[in-house]
This record gives sequence, C-alpha cells and structure tokens, in this order.
Amino acid sequence: MTATFPENWSTALVLVAHPDDPEYGMAAAVARWTSQGKRVVYALASSGEEGIAGMPAEECGPLREGEQIASAAVVGVDEVEFWGFPDSELFNTPELRAKVAETVNRVRPDVVLSLYGGPEWAPGFPNQRDHMQFAAAVVEAFDGLEAPPRALLCNGPNATHAVDVEGFTDTAIRALECHRVYLEVLDPDTPVIDQATAQIERSTGPMDGFDAARTSGFELLRGTV
Ligand SMILES: [Zn+2]
Repeated sequence: MTATFPENWSTALVLVAHPDDPEYGMAAAVARWTSQGKRVVYALASSGEEGIAGMPAEECGPLREGEQIASAAVVGVDEVEFWGFPDSELFNTPELRAKVAETVNRVRPDVVLSLYGGPEWAPGFPNQRDHMQFAAAVVEAFDGLEAPPRALLCNGPNATHAVDVEGFTDTAIRALECHRVYLEVLDPDTPVIDQATAQIERSTGPMDGFDAARTSGFELLRGTV
C-alpha cells in the first residue's frame, strides 16, 4: 500500500546530479506543491556540461543551467543553485557530502528529495553511475547532520509515498520542454513536445494501491514524513 505523501510542511529541498533530473519524475509534484504556496529549492551538483554530444563543456554548461532555470520557473521554483561538481565524474566524496550538508543546513527544508540510488530502475534498466554516487552521498550526508530535516525521500521505483499529480502533468511537460536543446540533440527525429509528453506520461502513471490517475512516487529513506 502506497501512502499519500503528506503536505503539512512548507519547504522542500530537491537535490539532484544534473539539469533535467528533477523534470522526469518530480516536476509534476513540485508544481502541485508550489501551487499550494510551498517553497521548493533546487540544488544541482553539476551543470550537465558533458550532456550534449558534440557541444564543448564551456558552452554546454551555461546553456543547460539556463534551460534548468527556465524549467524550474515553469513549476514555480525560483531558487536554483549549481554546485559546479564535474558532470559524469560525480563521486561520493567528502567534498560532495560537505556541500550536501552545508546546503541542507542553509536552506533548512522540512523534507529533502533526492535521486534514486539503486543499481537498476527495473531489470535491464541500469541506473547511471553519477546518480548512484550522488544518491549515496546525500544519504551519508543526511545521516551525519546534527539537526536533520523531517525526512529524506528519493524519487524512484520503490515508492512508499505518492503524490496525486492529476492536473499538473501539462505543467510538467512544459517544464521538460525547456530542456529544448538537450532533447533536440538527444533525439533529433522526435519533436521535443512529443518527447516531453511521452516521458511525463510514462513517469506519472497510476500506482498499485493508490487511487489517482496520475502519480509521482517517492521512497522514504530516512525519518518520517
Ligand atoms: Zn541525471
């Protein structure tokens, strides 16, 4: 049974590895929460500067930061920070864990939302190394906090809590569309709007044991939400 993600909190901190990481599975939930007046802050370890084939990192990083800032604005997030760790070379280092801790202590969120850190999303669908290393750093940093927030959850396949995002998927599609250059290069044969629509429809399907047509799922890793 998947529980309803409680909404009696006011600030969430979304911690991810790269631009576009919040968009696939979390943006619809974020749109719902900001529509309720909640504060959501995005922090990204890297600027995704290695993410566009054929584009030099010094051009790609600023472009992807711009796409991420535009995308966040669509779902009501106007606090977006980039930590400058190297894309494709993210590791669970003391420096990364220290940055996680510093950010949590500065933003003082009620809940922290992170990436899924398991090896596979499903049989045959491996997770990315950057994501696994980043997710491990977040959990370890969270465990070392003197005054941890209420809860740490990740957006992944083993959801314990779900958000009803019916009515917010169109906004999530518009948010993902902001990663236009990235998506155009990733799949030049499919229009960006079609890519974005398919991705959001796939990531917000119904969930067993939770009565909503559109959902966003989170796994509780630490604390109680
Ligand atoms: Zn990523």
